[in-house]
Amino acid sequence: MLSEILGRGERIVFFGGAGVSTESGIPDFRSGDGLYSRSGDTRYTPEEVLSHSFFVRHTAEFYAYYRSHLLHPHARPNPAHLALARLEEQGRLTAVITQNIDGLHQAAGSRTVLELHGSVHRNSCLRCGAPAGLDAILATDGVPTCACGGVIKPDVVLYEEPLDAAVMEAAIEHLARADTLVVGGTSLVVYPAAGLVHYFGGHELVLINAEPTALDHLATLVVHAPIGETLGAAVP
Ligand code: NAD
Repeated sequence: MLSEILGRGERIVFFGGAGVSTESGIPDFRSGDGLYSRSGDTRYTPEEVLSHSFFVRHTAEFYAYYRSHLLHPHARPNPAHLALARLEEQGRLTAVITQNIDGLHQAAGSRTVLELHGSVHRNSCLRCGAPAGLDAILATDGVPTCACGGVIKPDVVLYEEPLDAAVMEAAIEHLARADTLVVGGTSLVVYPAAGLVHYFGGHELVLINAEPTALDHLATLVVHAPIGETLGAAVP
């Protein structure tokens, strides 16, 4: 039972992806109604548009896609985000490691959040380095620019870009020390993030995902159900 495993855990780590935020109304990539299967510009896949070279060559098209598909300023944390914040508050969860860029774990109250792929809430000027918040992006149309005239880029890890080494190291340390790992809402196909799971040094591996994943066979407990409902019910 999930509630018993979480009740026993003293150093729980959560590793999650886009499926954690679908119950907040943010589409993932690979579900039936995810961004991959949405109608629109079919010339490019989301991976192409969200790549470094596309950003450099087609900045306006990048921003058109980014604004309409990845910015969800009105989304609120769902029971999964809130349950993980409660576990940390209870002193049993040491870190949330997320592939998400939406900031909803922090909005729910989680403090130790390792954002492997960055955040839409942080942006900076490519010319002078000045930081800009999400508000600065939302207040403009098209390609946002800095007072110095430089293009502003989201602090989001695009395909072809490396992950932040310090964030990766911190994630590995938390995983190596954890006694319980809960993996949820991720298809576990985006590397190198998905490979982090192999650094887990404990014994209780729980997988909560709407669909089967390649790691189901390694788990102590596999739950194929919505993660908000599942975690919300398991964490008092
Ligand atoms: P993915 O789309 O590849 O996989 C999501 C997985 O979650 C799927 O296996 C799906 O079955 C499952 N899922 C969807 N809703 C669920 C729910 N309510 N309960 C349980 N499982 C559910 O996402 P990924 O593995 O995170 O990789 C995609 C990449 O795109 C990542 O880098 C991710 O951060 C990024 N992305 C982020 C956001 C966001 O910040 N919210 C949204 C879309 C994509």
